[in-house]
Amino acid sequence: MADVMEKIVSLTKRRGFFYPGSEIYGGVGGIYDLGPLGVELANNIKTAWWKNIVRERDNVVGLDSAILMNRQVWHTSGHVESFADPLVECKNCHSRFREDILPKSKNCPTCGKNDWTSARMFNLMFKTHIGPVEGEANETFLRPETAQGIFVNFGNVVDTMRVKLPFGIAQVGKGFRNEITTGNFLFRVREFEMMELEYFTFSEKAEKDFDYWQKERMDWHISLGLRKENLRFREHESDERAHYATRSVDIEYNWPFMGWGELEGIANRTDYDLKQHSKESGKDISYFDEEIKKKIIPYVIEPSIGVGRMMLALLINAYTEEKAPTAEKGESETRVVLKLRPGLAPVKVAVLPLVKDEKLIKIAKEIYKDLKKEWNVIYDEAASIGRRYRRQDEIGTPFCVTVDFDTLKDKSVTMRDRDSMKQDRIKIENLKKRIGEELN
Ligand code: AMP
Repeated sequence: MADVMEKIVSLTKRRGFFYPGSEIYGGVGGIYDLGPLGVELANNIKTAWWKNIVRERDNVVGLDSAILMNRQVWHTSGHVESFADPLVECKNCHSRFREDILPKSKNCPTCGKNDWTSARMFNLMFKTHIGPVEGEANETFLRPETAQGIFVNFGNVVDTMRVKLPFGIAQVGKGFRNEITTGNFLFRVREFEMMELEYFTFSEKAEKDFDYWQKERMDWHISLGLRKENLRFREHESDERAHYATRSVDIEYNWPFMGWGELEGIANRTDYDLKQHSKESGKDISYFDEEIKKKIIPYVIEPSIGVGRMMLALLINAYTEEKAPTAEKGESETRVVLKLRPGLAPVKVAVLPLVKDEKLIKIAKEIYKDLKKEWNVIYDEAASIGRRYRRQDEIGTPFCVTVDFDTLKDKSVTMRDRDSMKQDRIKIENLKKRIGEELN
């Protein structure tokens, strides 16, 4: 099973999904760059999330707050004091690890010895300075979650948007965590994008809304194609919850490299953050309830997920090797297909002239130019048609449109479906409409 990961790491590097950060300088731990296909996949996931969380609902609005915030935010929120993991050091080789994710044997993953220092708490926030002077007064942190940007803007949104409780504020943006131990490719990195919803509600309704969001989020994962049997909920024990939460449930995925592990976290953050900010800033951060004519500080239910972790789950879920006849000889070979939902696929259509013939190339390029107005489309004339189909299968392109010699006579092309490999003959004039329907 674990070798699926090796195959995915190699495929996604070779085909331009992900590159190790600063690779020409030997990389930098736990940082990845998105290549041309990776950025398309990430954008498609973010769009699907935004559509589901913001657009399709009446009571959720979006926000894009700054990464750098007043340092006081992180003191007030409790992150300076509590956003930390237990760090141990191997007395033999001096490698450092997060204590709670050491292997069961407790042997050092670097040298094999079992001789550790006692654990000390290591704060995961990256420190930086705002302005030209480096002193404590202008020290701040790269945000480890986007949620605080939402909490400090709560009053602004209430004042400007005429929102009525319960309502949500959603945000997609970078988060930074100076993880002690990174690894498993995109699973645990130090810079990643997060998709977070803070759903503000009445304290009496918080438990019910928690259940509601738990179900909503699970349904979303299934709607994006993740197989049900690889998803489950896991309730956190009281000693593993973050400092602000009274209840946390993870949506876990059955990862090939570690078994069940967090894909998304859902937390009941109560009124902790708004109350804290209200107290420390001296500003009244509350909501006036017209019905009961009272100011209240709402409770918050937070579903939070990393874009990279979602990409990893989707790629593992989509990676397929299957026997298929070669296009040329009808013999059997193994083909690699990324069976991503068409809407998520980085490239939607590949336009291919059957052979390098001027007339075919001309028509293919016209089709390519036209389709490109709507979707991310590739034009490819290099190598045999069979090889070109395989190249598209490997990156999950749902449709290949091939221009052949019959096209010159009947103004039709073949449209090949990635999963069934069936080919339909279709008029060029109907192509756009048909692809549009299939992508819906
Ligand atoms: P948390 O606030 O720790 O529950 O994190 C929320 C979500 O962010 C997790 O469910 C992951 O999807 C993602 N996430 C957290 N830490 C990392 C990391 N170091 N690398 C990648 N994704 C992460």
